[in-house]
Amino acid sequence: MVRRPGRLTAGVANALLAQLPLAVAIVDIDLGLHYWNDAAADLFGLPPLAAVDVPHLTEILASIPHLLPLQRDRIATFVKGEMEASNRGEAESFLRVSLGRERRLGLRVRGIGARRWMLLIDEGRVFGAAGRSQAGHGDAWLDPLTGLSNRRHFNQVLRDMTENASAASNQALLMIDLDRFTPVNDTLGHAIGDALLCLVSQRLSGETRDDDLLARLGGDEFAILTSNGEKAEALGNRVVDILSRPFVVEGQVVNIGASVGISLFPEHGETAEAIMRHADLALYDAKSGGRRTCRVFSPAMAERAQTRRDLETDLRRALPLGEMSLAYQPQLNVRTKTLTGFEALLRWNHPVRGAVPPAVFIPVAEEIGCIAALGEWVLKTACNEAARWPAPLTVAVNVSPRQIENSERLIRAVDTALEVSGLSPSRLELEITESSLLSKADDVLATLHRLRDRGIRIAMDDFGTGYASLGQLRSFPFDKIKIDRSLIAGLPEGADAAAVIRVIAAIGSGLGMATTAEGVETSEQAALVEADGCTDIQGYLISRPVPASAIGDLMRRYSLVEA
Ligand code: C2E
Ligand code: MG
Ligand code: MG
Repeated sequence: MVRRPGRLTAGVANALLAQLPLAVAIVDIDLGLHYWNDAAADLFGLPPLAAVDVPHLTEILASIPHLLPLQRDRIATFVKGEMEASNRGEAESFLRVSLGRERRLGLRVRGIGARRWMLLIDEGRVFGAAGRSQAGHGDAWLDPLTGLSNRRHFNQVLRDMTENASAASNQALLMIDLDRFTPVNDTLGHAIGDALLCLVSQRLSGETRDDDLLARLGGDEFAILTSNGEKAEALGNRVVDILSRPFVVEGQVVNIGASVGISLFPEHGETAEAIMRHADLALYDAKSGGRRTCRVFSPAMAERAQTRRDLETDLRRALPLGEMSLAYQPQLNVRTKTLTGFEALLRWNHPVRGAVPPAVFIPVAEEIGCIAALGEWVLKTACNEAARWPAPLTVAVNVSPRQIENSERLIRAVDTALEVSGLSPSRLELEITESSLLSKADDVLATLHRLRDRGIRIAMDDFGTGYASLGQLRSFPFDKIKIDRSLIAGLPEGADAAAVIRVIAAIGSGLGMATTAEGVETSEQAALVEADGCTDIQGYLISRPVPASAIGDLMRRYSLVEA
Protein backbone atom coordinates (compact mmCIF):
# COMPACT_ATOMS: atom_id res chain seq x y z
CA MET A 1 0.00 0.00 0.00
CA VAL A 2 1.29 3.45 -0.91
CA ARG A 3 1.35 5.87 2.00
CA ARG A 4 0.98 9.56 1.12
CA PRO A 5 0.62 12.62 3.24
CA GLY A 6 -2.94 13.87 3.19
CA ARG A 7 -5.59 15.84 5.00
CA LEU A 8 -6.05 15.44 8.71
CA THR A 9 -9.24 14.13 10.09
CA ALA A 10 -11.29 16.66 11.98
CA GLY A 11 -10.51 14.92 15.26
CA VAL A 12 -6.76 15.09 14.78
CA ALA A 13 -6.92 18.71 13.60
CA ASN A 14 -8.96 19.62 16.61
CA ALA A 15 -6.55 17.95 19.01
CA LEU A 16 -3.59 19.58 17.33
CA LEU A 17 -5.11 23.03 17.35
CA ALA A 18 -6.09 22.66 20.95
CA GLN A 19 -2.52 21.93 21.97
CA LEU A 20 -0.78 24.36 19.68
CA PRO A 21 1.50 26.65 21.70
CA LEU A 22 0.02 29.56 19.77
CA ALA A 23 -3.22 31.18 20.83
CA VAL A 24 -5.88 30.65 18.20
CA ALA A 25 -9.43 31.90 18.22
CA ILE A 26 -12.12 31.95 15.58
CA VAL A 27 -14.31 35.00 15.27
CA ASP A 28 -17.29 36.06 13.22
CA ILE A 29 -17.84 39.36 11.51
CA ASP A 30 -19.32 40.82 14.70
CA LEU A 31 -16.27 39.77 16.70
CA GLY A 32 -18.11 36.95 18.44
CA LEU A 33 -15.72 34.17 19.50
CA HIS A 34 -16.70 30.70 18.33
CA TYR A 35 -13.62 28.74 19.21
CA TRP A 36 -10.44 29.11 21.19
CA ASN A 37 -7.65 26.74 21.92
CA ASP A 38 -5.92 26.08 25.23
CA ALA A 39 -3.24 28.67 24.67
CA ALA A 40 -5.89 31.33 24.00
CA ALA A 41 -7.81 30.20 27.06
CA ASP A 42 -4.67 30.68 29.14
CA LEU A 43 -3.83 34.00 27.64
CA PHE A 44 -7.29 35.49 27.96
CA GLY A 45 -8.42 33.58 31.01
CA LEU A 46 -11.28 31.97 29.08
CA PRO A 47 -13.46 29.17 30.42
CA PRO A 48 -13.68 25.76 28.68
CA LEU A 49 -15.25 26.03 25.25
CA ALA A 50 -18.60 24.46 25.90
CA ALA A 51 -19.21 26.33 29.13
CA VAL A 52 -20.20 29.71 27.73
CA ASP A 53 -22.24 31.39 25.06
CA VAL A 54 -20.34 33.01 22.23
CA PRO A 55 -18.43 35.81 23.99
CA HIS A 56 -17.54 39.05 22.31
CA LEU A 57 -13.89 39.85 21.59
CA THR A 58 -14.11 43.28 23.24
CA GLU A 59 -15.36 41.72 26.50
CA ILE A 60 -12.48 39.33 26.43
CA LEU A 61 -10.01 42.10 25.78
CA ALA A 62 -11.44 44.14 28.63
CA SER A 63 -10.65 41.35 31.04
CA ILE A 64 -6.97 41.19 30.12
CA PRO A 65 -4.92 42.88 32.81
CA HIS A 66 -2.49 45.57 31.66
CA LEU A 67 -4.19 46.04 28.33
CA LEU A 68 -5.04 49.73 28.17
CA PRO A 69 -8.39 50.84 26.73
CA LEU A 70 -6.64 52.49 23.86
CA GLN A 71 -4.89 49.23 23.07
CA ARG A 72 -8.19 47.36 23.21
CA ASP A 73 -9.68 49.75 20.70
CA ARG A 74 -6.64 49.30 18.59
CA ILE A 75 -6.95 45.52 18.52
CA ALA A 76 -10.65 45.62 17.67
CA THR A 77 -10.06 48.11 14.89
CA PHE A 78 -7.20 46.05 13.56
CA VAL A 79 -9.20 42.83 13.53
CA LYS A 80 -12.09 44.47 11.68
CA GLY A 81 -9.73 46.06 9.18
CA GLU A 82 -8.02 42.74 8.54
CA MET A 83 -11.32 40.99 7.99
CA GLU A 84 -12.17 43.45 5.27
CA ALA A 85 -8.69 43.21 3.80
CA SER A 86 -8.89 39.42 3.63
CA ASN A 87 -12.32 39.68 1.99
CA ARG A 88 -10.67 41.80 -0.66
CA GLY A 89 -7.89 39.23 -0.94
CA GLU A 90 -5.22 41.56 0.40
CA ALA A 91 -2.17 40.31 2.22
CA GLU A 92 -2.48 40.06 5.97
CA SER A 93 -0.57 42.31 8.27
CA PHE A 94 0.59 42.07 11.81
CA LEU A 95 -0.22 44.02 14.95
CA ARG A 96 2.08 44.23 17.91
CA VAL A 97 0.75 45.36 21.26
CA SER A 98 2.71 45.57 24.45
CA LEU A 99 0.97 44.05 27.39
CA GLY A 100 1.97 45.09 30.84
CA ARG A 101 5.63 45.50 31.33
CA GLU A 102 6.98 42.26 30.17
CA ARG A 103 4.77 40.81 27.50
CA ARG A 104 3.93 41.62 23.99
CA LEU A 105 1.19 40.27 21.81
CA GLY A 106 1.53 39.70 18.09
CA LEU A 107 -1.76 39.49 16.26
CA ARG A 108 -2.69 38.17 12.83
CA VAL A 109 -6.06 37.62 11.23
CA ARG A 110 -6.70 35.02 8.54
CA GLY A 111 -9.92 34.32 6.64
CA ILE A 112 -10.96 30.68 6.84
CA GLY A 113 -14.16 30.94 4.80
CA ALA A 114 -17.81 30.70 5.85
CA ARG A 115 -17.61 34.23 7.29
CA ARG A 116 -15.21 33.12 9.97
CA TRP A 117 -11.75 34.39 10.67
CA MET A 118 -8.93 32.94 12.64
CA LEU A 119 -7.02 35.11 15.11
CA LEU A 120 -3.47 33.98 15.64
CA ILE A 121 -1.96 35.51 18.71
CA ASP A 122 1.53 34.83 19.80
CA GLU A 123 2.65 36.08 23.10
CA GLY A 124 6.21 37.24 23.21
CA ARG A 125 7.90 37.51 26.51
CA VAL A 126 10.26 40.36 26.37
CA PHE A 127 13.84 39.30 26.62
CA GLY A 128 15.06 39.24 30.19
CA ALA A 129 11.63 39.26 31.81
CA ALA A 130 11.94 35.68 32.91
CA GLY A 131 15.00 36.28 35.04
CA ARG A 132 13.40 39.07 36.97
CA SER A 133 11.98 37.17 39.86
CA GLN A 134 15.37 35.77 40.84
CA ALA A 135 17.77 38.53 40.04
CA GLY A 136 15.54 41.52 40.40
CA HIS A 137 17.11 43.04 37.30
CA GLY A 138 17.20 42.53 33.65
CA ASP A 139 13.62 43.24 32.81
CA ALA A 140 13.77 45.21 29.63
CA TRP A 141 10.39 46.85 30.31
CA LEU A 142 10.62 47.54 33.99
CA ASP A 143 12.37 50.14 36.02
CA PRO A 144 14.28 47.93 38.45
CA LEU A 145 14.20 50.46 41.30
CA THR A 146 10.52 51.33 41.45
CA GLY A 147 8.94 48.45 39.55
CA LEU A 148 7.16 50.94 37.31
CA SER A 149 7.32 50.76 33.55
CA ASN A 150 10.54 52.09 32.13
CA ARG A 151 11.13 54.54 29.31
CA ARG A 152 11.21 51.79 26.75
CA HIS A 153 7.82 50.43 27.67
CA PHE A 154 6.47 53.94 27.92
CA ASN A 155 7.70 54.76 24.41
CA GLN A 156 6.09 51.63 23.09
CA VAL A 157 2.71 52.37 24.61
CA LEU A 158 2.87 56.00 23.55
CA ARG A 159 3.52 54.86 20.02
CA ASP A 160 0.66 52.36 20.20
CA MET A 161 -1.53 55.21 21.33
CA THR A 162 -0.62 57.68 18.62
CA GLU A 163 -0.59 55.15 15.81
CA ASN A 164 -4.09 54.16 16.68
CA ALA A 165 -5.73 57.53 16.80
CA SER A 166 -9.45 57.53 16.56
CA ALA A 167 -10.94 60.98 16.34
CA ALA A 168 -12.80 60.43 19.58
CA SER A 169 -9.76 59.48 21.56
CA ASN A 170 -8.93 61.82 24.33
CA GLN A 171 -5.72 60.81 26.00
CA ALA A 172 -3.17 62.79 27.89
CA LEU A 173 0.49 62.63 28.69
CA LEU A 174 1.66 64.00 32.01
CA MET A 175 5.37 64.58 32.43
CA ILE A 176 6.42 64.84 36.06
CA ASP A 177 9.70 66.20 37.33
CA LEU A 178 10.72 66.32 40.97
CA ASP A 179 11.81 69.79 42.00
CA ARG A 180 14.42 69.32 44.66
CA PHE A 181 15.53 65.78 44.16
CA THR A 182 19.15 66.43 43.20
CA PRO A 183 20.08 68.38 46.35
CA VAL A 184 18.36 65.74 48.50
CA ASN A 185 20.17 62.96 46.70
CA ASP A 186 23.49 64.77 47.02
CA THR A 187 23.02 65.72 50.63
CA LEU A 188 21.44 62.64 52.14
CA GLY A 189 23.03 60.06 49.91
CA HIS A 190 21.90 57.75 47.17
CA ALA A 191 20.31 55.16 49.44
CA ILE A 192 17.88 57.77 50.74
CA GLY A 193 17.46 59.14 47.23
CA ASP A 194 16.49 55.68 45.98
CA ALA A 195 14.09 55.11 48.86
CA LEU A 196 12.54 58.48 48.16
CA LEU A 197 11.99 57.58 44.50
CA CYS A 198 10.19 54.42 45.61
CA LEU A 199 7.95 56.43 47.92
CA VAL A 200 7.24 58.86 45.10
CA SER A 201 6.27 55.99 42.82
CA GLN A 202 3.96 54.62 45.51
CA ARG A 203 2.21 57.95 45.90
CA LEU A 204 1.87 58.25 42.15
CA SER A 205 0.46 54.72 41.88
CA GLY A 206 -2.18 55.73 44.40
CA GLU A 207 -3.36 58.49 42.07
CA THR A 208 -3.44 56.54 38.82
CA ARG A 209 -6.08 54.11 37.60
CA ASP A 210 -5.38 50.61 36.36
CA ASP A 211 -5.92 51.83 32.83
CA ASP A 212 -3.23 54.47 33.12
CA LEU A 213 0.37 53.79 32.39
CA LEU A 214 2.75 55.07 35.04
CA ALA A 215 6.41 55.05 34.12
CA ARG A 216 9.71 56.23 35.48
CA LEU A 217 11.60 57.63 32.55
CA GLY A 218 14.88 57.88 34.42
CA GLY A 219 16.40 59.98 37.20
CA ASP A 220 13.64 61.93 38.88
CA GLU A 221 11.42 62.00 35.81
CA PHE A 222 8.07 60.22 35.77
CA ALA A 223 5.25 60.08 33.23
CA ILE A 224 1.61 59.09 33.18
CA LEU A 225 -0.34 58.17 30.08
CA THR A 226 -4.02 58.35 30.73
CA SER A 227 -7.07 57.74 28.60
CA ASN A 228 -8.96 60.18 30.71
CA GLY A 229 -7.88 63.37 28.98
CA GLU A 230 -10.57 65.61 30.48
CA LYS A 231 -9.36 64.87 33.97
CA ALA A 232 -5.67 65.17 33.17
CA GLU A 233 -5.27 68.63 34.66
CA ALA A 234 -7.01 67.61 37.86
CA LEU A 235 -4.73 64.58 38.02
CA GLY A 236 -1.69 66.82 37.41
CA ASN A 237 -2.70 69.13 40.23
CA ARG A 238 -3.19 66.18 42.55
CA VAL A 239 0.26 64.89 41.64
CA VAL A 240 1.79 68.28 42.49
CA ASP A 241 -0.11 68.29 45.74
CA ILE A 242 0.77 64.79 46.93
CA LEU A 243 4.44 65.17 46.04
CA SER A 244 4.67 68.49 47.85
CA ARG A 245 3.78 66.86 51.14
CA PRO A 246 6.72 65.84 53.27
CA PHE A 247 8.20 62.36 52.95
CA VAL A 248 9.71 60.43 55.81
CA VAL A 249 12.67 58.43 54.62
CA GLU A 250 14.55 56.38 57.16
CA GLY A 251 13.52 58.65 59.94
CA GLN A 252 14.33 61.85 58.06
CA VAL A 253 11.73 64.32 56.93
CA VAL A 254 12.37 65.24 53.33
CA ASN A 255 10.59 67.94 51.37
CA ILE A 256 10.64 67.91 47.64
CA GLY A 257 7.90 68.94 45.23
CA ALA A 258 7.04 68.37 41.64
CA SER A 259 6.24 70.16 38.43
CA VAL A 260 3.89 68.67 35.87
CA GLY A 261 3.50 69.38 32.16
CA ILE A 262 0.56 68.01 30.22
CA SER A 263 -0.16 67.56 26.54
CA LEU A 264 -3.41 66.21 25.18
CA PHE A 265 -3.76 63.72 22.39
CA PRO A 266 -4.68 64.29 19.62
CA GLU A 267 -5.33 67.98 20.38
CA HIS A 268 -1.67 68.93 20.91
CA GLY A 269 -0.05 66.66 18.37
CA GLU A 270 -0.62 63.50 16.45
CA THR A 271 2.74 61.81 16.73
CA ALA A 272 4.48 60.45 19.78
CA GLU A 273 7.28 62.97 19.24
CA ALA A 274 4.92 65.94 19.14
CA ILE A 275 3.09 64.79 22.25
CA MET A 276 6.36 64.35 24.11
CA ARG A 277 7.79 67.64 22.97
CA HIS A 278 4.68 69.54 23.96
CA ALA A 279 4.40 67.89 27.35
CA ASP A 280 8.07 68.74 27.87
CA LEU A 281 7.45 72.35 26.95
CA ALA A 282 4.55 72.52 29.39
CA LEU A 283 6.78 71.00 32.06
CA TYR A 284 9.50 73.50 31.31
CA ASP A 285 6.93 76.28 31.61
CA ALA A 286 5.74 74.90 34.93
CA LYS A 287 9.29 74.81 36.24
CA SER A 288 10.19 78.30 35.14
CA GLY A 289 6.90 79.51 36.58
CA GLY A 290 8.16 78.88 40.07
CA ARG A 291 7.83 75.10 40.25
CA ARG A 292 5.28 73.14 42.24
CA THR A 293 2.77 73.77 39.49
CA CYS A 294 0.99 71.92 36.74
CA ARG A 295 0.67 73.40 33.26
CA VAL A 296 -1.21 72.24 30.21
CA PHE A 297 0.53 72.88 26.91
CA SER A 298 -0.43 75.96 24.92
CA PRO A 299 1.16 77.18 21.67
CA ALA A 300 2.39 80.32 23.45
CA MET A 301 4.73 78.10 25.46
CA ALA A 302 6.66 77.18 22.35
CA GLU A 303 7.22 80.89 21.77
CA ARG A 304 8.24 81.53 25.35
CA ALA A 305 10.67 78.62 25.21
CA GLN A 306 12.18 80.06 22.06
CA THR A 307 12.57 83.46 23.73
CA ARG A 308 14.23 81.79 26.66
CA ARG A 309 16.56 79.75 24.44
CA ASP A 310 17.57 82.95 22.68
CA LEU A 311 18.32 84.54 26.05
CA GLU A 312 20.43 81.53 27.02
CA THR A 313 22.39 81.66 23.79
CA ASP A 314 23.03 85.38 24.21
CA LEU A 315 24.03 84.89 27.83
CA ARG A 316 26.58 82.22 26.95
CA ARG A 317 28.18 84.65 24.52
CA ALA A 318 27.98 87.73 26.73
CA LEU A 319 31.34 87.34 28.45
CA PRO A 320 33.43 86.61 25.34
CA LEU A 321 31.68 89.47 23.54
CA GLY A 322 32.58 91.85 26.35
CA GLU A 323 28.98 92.74 27.18
CA MET A 324 29.42 92.36 30.93
CA SER A 325 30.63 95.05 33.29
CA LEU A 326 30.50 95.86 36.96
CA ALA A 327 28.72 98.70 38.69
CA TYR A 328 29.66 99.64 42.23
CA GLN A 329 27.35 100.83 44.96
CA PRO A 330 28.84 102.53 48.02
CA GLN A 331 28.16 101.52 51.60
CA LEU A 332 28.15 104.16 54.32
CA ASN A 333 28.94 103.76 57.99
CA VAL A 334 26.23 105.65 59.89
CA ARG A 335 28.45 106.52 62.85
CA THR A 336 31.46 107.87 60.99
CA LYS A 337 29.36 109.10 58.02
CA THR A 338 31.99 107.84 55.65
CA LEU A 339 32.18 105.18 52.97
CA THR A 340 33.48 101.77 54.01
CA GLY A 341 33.23 99.87 50.77
CA PHE A 342 31.43 99.19 47.52
CA GLU A 343 29.29 96.28 46.38
CA ALA A 344 30.14 95.03 42.89
CA LEU A 345 26.97 94.43 40.87
CA LEU A 346 27.02 92.66 37.55
CA ARG A 347 25.67 94.56 34.54
CA TRP A 348 24.79 93.03 31.19
CA ASN A 349 24.47 95.48 28.37
CA HIS A 350 23.19 93.63 25.33
CA PRO A 351 23.42 95.40 21.92
CA VAL A 352 19.75 94.72 21.14
CA ARG A 353 18.10 93.90 24.47
CA GLY A 354 19.74 96.84 26.24
CA ALA A 355 20.41 96.52 29.96
CA VAL A 356 19.22 93.13 31.17
CA PRO A 357 18.62 93.17 34.95
CA PRO A 358 20.61 90.67 37.05
CA ALA A 359 17.34 89.50 38.58
CA VAL A 360 16.53 88.21 35.09
CA PHE A 361 19.80 86.75 33.93
CA ILE A 362 21.44 85.50 37.14
CA PRO A 363 18.77 82.79 37.69
CA VAL A 364 19.15 81.77 34.03
CA ALA A 365 22.93 81.60 34.40
CA GLU A 366 22.46 79.45 37.50
CA GLU A 367 20.18 77.08 35.66
CA ILE A 368 22.26 76.65 32.55
CA GLY A 369 25.46 76.30 34.53
CA CYS A 370 27.37 79.37 33.44
CA ILE A 371 27.17 81.16 36.79
CA ALA A 372 30.57 79.76 37.81
CA ALA A 373 32.28 81.33 34.80
CA LEU A 374 30.41 84.60 35.34
CA GLY A 375 31.24 84.54 39.04
CA GLU A 376 34.92 84.00 38.29
CA TRP A 377 34.90 86.93 35.94
CA VAL A 378 33.20 89.11 38.59
CA LEU A 379 35.77 88.11 41.23
CA LYS A 380 38.68 88.74 38.93
CA THR A 381 37.35 92.07 37.64
CA ALA A 382 36.23 93.36 41.05
CA CYS A 383 39.59 92.54 42.64
CA ASN A 384 41.53 94.09 39.75
CA GLU A 385 39.47 97.28 39.79
CA ALA A 386 39.46 97.59 43.57
CA ALA A 387 43.23 97.19 43.65
CA ARG A 388 43.43 100.41 41.61
CA TRP A 389 41.06 102.48 43.76
CA PRO A 390 42.64 105.56 45.28
CA ALA A 391 41.53 104.52 48.79
CA PRO A 392 41.71 100.96 50.20
CA LEU A 393 37.98 100.34 50.76
CA THR A 394 36.30 96.96 50.79
CA VAL A 395 34.86 95.44 47.64
CA ALA A 396 31.87 93.14 48.15
CA VAL A 397 31.18 90.40 45.61
CA ASN A 398 27.96 88.37 45.40
CA VAL A 399 28.45 84.62 45.36
CA SER A 400 25.75 82.33 44.03
CA PRO A 401 24.75 79.18 45.93
CA ARG A 402 25.69 77.24 42.78
CA GLN A 403 29.26 78.53 43.15
CA ILE A 404 29.48 77.48 46.78
CA GLU A 405 28.36 73.98 45.85
CA ASN A 406 31.59 73.61 43.92
CA SER A 407 33.85 74.71 46.74
CA GLU A 408 37.18 73.83 45.17
CA ARG A 409 36.46 75.84 42.06
CA LEU A 410 35.25 78.80 44.13
CA ILE A 411 38.29 78.82 46.39
CA ARG A 412 40.60 78.53 43.41
CA ALA A 413 38.83 81.47 41.74
CA VAL A 414 39.12 83.60 44.89
CA ASP A 415 42.80 82.75 45.36
CA THR A 416 43.58 83.49 41.73
CA ALA A 417 41.69 86.80 41.77
CA LEU A 418 43.53 87.93 44.90
CA GLU A 419 46.90 86.79 43.66
CA VAL A 420 46.62 88.34 40.19
CA SER A 421 45.26 91.65 41.48
CA GLY A 422 47.45 91.84 44.56
CA LEU A 423 44.38 92.90 46.57
CA SER A 424 44.65 92.24 50.28
CA PRO A 425 42.18 89.50 51.32
CA SER A 426 40.92 91.79 54.08
CA ARG A 427 39.54 94.11 51.41
CA LEU A 428 37.42 91.39 49.82
CA GLU A 429 33.96 90.66 51.17
CA LEU A 430 31.85 87.79 49.84
CA GLU A 431 28.07 88.07 50.05
CA ILE A 432 26.22 84.82 50.32
CA THR A 433 22.49 84.27 50.64
CA GLU A 434 20.78 82.14 53.20
CA SER A 435 19.64 79.74 50.48
CA SER A 436 23.30 78.70 50.26
CA LEU A 437 22.95 77.21 53.72
CA LEU A 438 19.84 75.21 52.95
CA SER A 439 21.48 72.10 51.62
CA LYS A 440 24.78 70.49 52.55
CA ALA A 441 25.12 73.09 55.29
CA ASP A 442 28.20 71.41 56.78
CA ASP A 443 30.11 71.49 53.51
CA VAL A 444 29.11 75.10 52.95
CA LEU A 445 30.22 76.12 56.43
CA ALA A 446 33.56 74.36 55.91
CA THR A 447 34.05 76.29 52.67
CA LEU A 448 33.15 79.59 54.33
CA HIS A 449 35.64 78.87 57.11
CA ARG A 450 38.39 78.19 54.59
CA LEU A 451 37.65 81.54 52.95
CA ARG A 452 37.45 83.40 56.23
CA ASP A 453 40.74 81.85 57.35
CA ARG A 454 42.34 83.72 54.47
CA GLY A 455 41.16 86.99 56.01
CA ILE A 456 38.26 87.41 53.59
CA ARG A 457 35.10 88.87 55.11
CA ILE A 458 31.80 86.99 54.76
CA ALA A 459 28.44 88.79 54.67
CA MET A 460 24.96 87.31 54.86
CA ASP A 461 22.99 88.97 52.04
CA ASP A 462 19.25 89.62 51.74
CA PHE A 463 18.59 88.65 55.32
CA GLY A 464 15.09 88.83 56.74
CA THR A 465 13.21 87.28 53.85
CA GLY A 466 12.38 83.82 52.66
CA TYR A 467 13.81 81.09 54.78
CA ALA A 468 15.68 83.46 57.05
CA SER A 469 16.34 81.89 60.34
CA LEU A 470 18.10 83.64 63.13
CA GLY A 471 19.68 80.30 64.01
CA GLN A 472 21.72 80.47 60.84
CA LEU A 473 23.48 83.52 62.20
CA ARG A 474 24.84 81.46 65.06
CA SER A 475 26.15 78.76 62.73
CA PHE A 476 28.88 80.94 61.30
CA PRO A 477 30.79 84.05 62.42
CA PHE A 478 29.52 86.32 59.66
CA ASP A 479 31.21 89.69 59.50
CA LYS A 480 28.08 91.42 58.32
CA ILE A 481 24.34 90.96 57.98
CA LYS A 482 22.71 92.77 55.09
CA ILE A 483 19.05 93.41 55.84
CA ASP A 484 16.98 92.87 52.73
CA ARG A 485 15.67 95.97 51.03
CA SER A 486 12.10 94.67 51.10
CA LEU A 487 12.13 95.27 54.86
CA ILE A 488 13.55 98.78 54.47
CA ALA A 489 10.97 99.52 51.76
CA GLY A 490 8.28 99.01 54.42
CA LEU A 491 9.57 102.01 56.36
CA PRO A 492 8.46 104.34 57.80
CA GLU A 493 4.89 102.89 57.96
CA GLY A 494 5.58 99.21 58.63
CA ALA A 495 5.71 98.58 62.35
CA ASP A 496 6.45 94.89 61.73
CA ALA A 497 9.35 95.69 59.43
CA ALA A 498 10.77 98.11 61.99
CA ALA A 499 10.52 95.47 64.72
CA VAL A 500 12.29 92.86 62.56
CA ILE A 501 15.04 95.33 61.69
CA ARG A 502 15.54 96.17 65.37
CA VAL A 503 15.79 92.49 66.30
CA ILE A 504 18.29 91.75 63.54
CA ALA A 505 20.41 94.75 64.46
CA ALA A 506 20.36 93.76 68.12
CA ILE A 507 21.37 90.18 67.35
CA GLY A 508 24.06 91.43 65.00
CA SER A 509 25.49 93.68 67.66
CA GLY A 510 25.32 90.85 70.20
CA LEU A 511 27.24 88.55 67.88
CA GLY A 512 29.72 91.26 66.88
CA MET A 513 28.42 91.49 63.32
CA ALA A 514 27.90 94.71 61.37
CA THR A 515 24.36 95.27 60.07
CA THR A 516 23.80 97.00 56.75
CA ALA A 517 20.36 98.27 55.77
CA GLU A 518 19.97 97.75 52.02
CA GLY A 519 17.87 99.87 49.70
CA VAL A 520 17.75 103.00 51.80
CA GLU A 521 16.13 105.59 49.54
CA THR A 522 15.09 108.42 51.86
CA SER A 523 16.74 110.27 54.71
CA GLU A 524 13.75 109.33 56.84
CA GLN A 525 14.53 105.64 56.29
CA ALA A 526 18.20 106.31 57.03
CA ALA A 527 17.31 107.97 60.34
CA LEU A 528 14.99 105.09 61.29
CA VAL A 529 17.44 102.28 60.56
CA GLU A 530 20.14 104.18 62.37
CA ALA A 531 17.85 104.53 65.37
CA ASP A 532 17.06 100.82 65.10
CA GLY A 533 20.74 100.01 65.47
CA CYS A 534 21.97 99.33 61.94
CA THR A 535 25.67 100.13 61.56
CA ASP A 536 25.75 100.77 57.80
CA ILE A 537 23.46 101.79 54.99
CA GLN A 538 23.46 101.18 51.27
CA GLY A 539 20.94 102.52 48.80
CA TYR A 540 19.94 105.15 46.29
CA LEU A 541 20.04 107.79 49.05
CA ILE A 542 23.81 107.49 49.14
CA SER A 543 24.25 106.62 45.47
CA ARG A 544 22.95 104.37 42.74
CA PRO A 545 25.44 101.77 41.54
CA VAL A 546 28.05 103.64 39.47
CA PRO A 547 30.61 102.57 36.87
CA ALA A 548 34.16 101.94 38.06
CA SER A 549 35.22 105.28 36.57
CA ALA A 550 32.97 107.21 39.00
CA ILE A 551 34.43 105.70 42.16
CA GLY A 552 37.20 108.28 42.48
CA ASP A 553 34.62 111.10 42.48
CA LEU A 554 32.55 109.41 45.18
CA MET A 555 35.64 108.92 47.32
CA ARG A 556 36.55 112.57 46.91
CA ARG A 557 33.03 113.65 47.90
CA TYR A 558 33.52 111.77 51.17
CA SER A 559 37.02 113.19 51.57
CA LEU A 560 38.56 109.74 51.39
CA VAL A 561 41.00 111.07 48.88
CA GLU A 562 42.16 114.60 48.28
CA ALA A 563 40.19 116.66 45.82
P1 C2E B 1 21.75 92.31 46.02
O1 C2E B 1 23.04 91.64 46.20
O2 C2E B 1 20.85 92.40 47.21
O3 C2E B 1 22.09 93.72 45.44
C1 C2E B 1 21.43 94.89 45.78
C2 C2E B 1 20.44 95.25 44.77
O4 C2E B 1 19.62 96.29 45.26
C3 C2E B 1 21.04 95.77 43.48
O5 C2E B 1 20.19 95.41 42.41
C4 C2E B 1 20.96 97.26 43.67
O6 C2E B 1 20.99 98.00 42.48
C5 C2E B 1 19.63 97.38 44.36
N1 C2E B 1 19.50 98.59 45.13
C6 C2E B 1 20.48 99.25 45.77
N2 C2E B 1 19.99 100.33 46.40
C7 C2E B 1 18.68 100.37 46.16
C8 C2E B 1 17.61 101.24 46.56
O7 C2E B 1 17.80 102.22 47.27
N3 C2E B 1 16.37 100.94 46.13
C9 C2E B 1 16.13 99.88 45.35
N4 C2E B 1 14.86 99.66 44.94
N5 C2E B 1 17.10 99.02 44.95
C10 C2E B 1 18.35 99.26 45.36
P2 C2E B 1 20.76 94.73 41.13
O8 C2E B 1 22.05 95.31 40.76
O9 C2E B 1 19.65 94.72 40.16
O10 C2E B 1 21.05 93.27 41.62
C11 C2E B 1 20.02 92.41 41.97
C12 C2E B 1 20.57 91.15 42.55
O11 C2E B 1 21.27 90.42 41.55
C13 C2E B 1 21.56 91.35 43.64
O12 C2E B 1 20.92 91.62 44.84
C14 C2E B 1 22.28 90.03 43.64
O13 C2E B 1 21.52 89.07 44.34
C15 C2E B 1 22.27 89.65 42.17
N6 C2E B 1 23.59 89.97 41.63
C16 C2E B 1 24.05 91.13 41.15
N7 C2E B 1 25.33 90.98 40.73
C17 C2E B 1 25.69 89.71 40.98
C18 C2E B 1 26.89 88.93 40.80
O14 C2E B 1 27.94 89.41 40.36
N8 C2E B 1 26.85 87.61 41.17
C19 C2E B 1 25.74 87.05 41.69
N9 C2E B 1 25.78 85.78 42.01
N10 C2E B 1 24.61 87.75 41.90
C20 C2E B 1 24.58 89.07 41.55
MG1 MG C 1 24.44 91.58 47.40
MG1 MG D 1 21.04 92.14 49.02
